[in-house]
Amino acid sequence: MPLVNMRDMLYHAYDNNYAVGAFDLVSLDFLEAVIGAAESCRSAVILSIAEPHFAHYDFELMLPAVEAAAKRASVPVAIQLDHGSSLESAIKAINLGCNGVMLDASNQSFSDNIEHTRAVVEMAHQCGVSVVGELGYVAGKEGEGAEQHPGETTFTLPSEAKAYVQRTGVDFLAVSIGTVQGRMNGRAKLDYARLKQLNQTVNIPLVIHGGSGLNEEQFHKLTLNGVVKIDYYTALSDVAAKAMRKRSKENPGGSFTDLKKDVKEAIGNEVQRCLRQWGSAGRAAEVLERCEPWLVVEHLIVHNMDAQSTQSIDSLMLEGKQILSEIPGVREVFTGEVMKENSKYSCCWSVRFTHKAALESFHRHQHFDSFLQKKFKPNVSDLIRIDYQERLVNLA
Ligand SMILES: [Zn+2]
Repeated sequence: MPLVNMRDMLYHAYDNNYAVGAFDLVSLDFLEAVIGAAESCRSAVILSIAEPHFAHYDFELMLPAVEAAAKRASVPVAIQLDHGSSLESAIKAINLGCNGVMLDASNQSFSDNIEHTRAVVEMAHQCGVSVVGELGYVAGKEGEGAEQHPGETTFTLPSEAKAYVQRTGVDFLAVSIGTVQGRMNGRAKLDYARLKQLNQTVNIPLVIHGGSGLNEEQFHKLTLNGVVKIDYYTALSDVAAKAMRKRSKENPGGSFTDLKKDVKEAIGNEVQRCLRQWGSAGRAAEVLERCEPWLVVEHLIVHNMDAQSTQSIDSLMLEGKQILSEIPGVREVFTGEVMKENSKYSCCWSVRFTHKAALESFHRHQHFDSFLQKKFKPNVSDLIRIDYQERLVNLA
């Protein structure tokens, strides 16, 4: 169960002045290491899937594993799409199981950033999913040397931030105050005065990207000024690569599994160090208490085909499946025919949603309504529709 609402998780951090780690995963080693580390230090954690990394793995194959790991974890977990580039990728991520979305339109003009972010917020909120927006530009690229991607960092302006938050409706704001994504030479100089002003102006929790390379004192000051989520990847990539290089030196003819033998442990140690340093270790139980569990919701339809119907059952189901699957928050559309002869209802549909909010917006969605009125109702009889929510079974 411990898949929880990311918004509740981060508000617990906001109220208690600490930060939760959002760790980008690029393989199953990362996934297992991050979950294992969070469990051993009893911390909430965010499993993060970053769109710029999609070249390295198949997102559609990775997410089911991430979700399975989250569901069997003993600590509260949320799953976020990191650096989403568009409304389409946000919809896809939500339909595949992400319950937090970070839209990165920070390289666009102020007004374009607002317009694109607002569209994602409207859609995501209808699915119960919270959104991180980014204003100001954090240069660099996760996992690589910052000097290879020198781009111009633009600091977040408090005056713009206020308007941005009001006009987009984002739940959390990623700010640029001197961190860099990727590895940098020397230590970042952070603009705390700006951070303090941003925290007072926007009145929502803040997020930092480019956390690798900061020291304990810097992290501490961030959490005292409204930062609740730190997105972290480069240092994990570095310790993993180092562990493989060390193995390869010791055992030059080693197999793939030999070379990556110490990777999980190296990542896990670094994640544990972070969770302790950022103050989230040891708090899993109180976070879990505070969070809405993230439960699947299902809309069930059973019916018979109308004797007078001209439409075939196959074409009705195919069309319905296509139309309904594209609605934000719809995870799966199952269509079935009855297995026993002379049963009362011959056809069944089950539409599965990310969250109960997604079900409510689905009922109002115009594609669903027009399919129901124009295609469905004229062709079916004995229609029954019922909604169900996943039931939490507490065996303790
Ligand atoms: Zn980032």
